[in-house]
Amino acid sequence: MTFSVNLTLCPFDSKDLNREYSGGSFLVSCSHCGAEWEVHNNLVLRVTDPNWEMAEQVTAIVSERIAEHLANSASIS
Ligand SMILES: [Zn+2]
Repeated sequence: MTFSVNLTLCPFDSKDLNREYSGGSFLVSCSHCGAEWEVHNNLVLRVTDPNWEMAEQVTAIVSERIAEHLANSASIS
């Protein structure tokens, strides 16, 4: 899995990420699912796994919304 250098949204739940500068790299963390990354120039390392239960809940909600959206657009056209 690769991330863009500009990591601003959590890839697991699309929440805003916190950034902290520490000793030449950024520590990026998600306050929602607890995932953390270290960003060195253009290299992104995941240091803490997300709380998969939290992340999967959100993923389920997002897929429901996508399904609703598809159902709505299908009924319009
Ligand atoms: Zn997250």
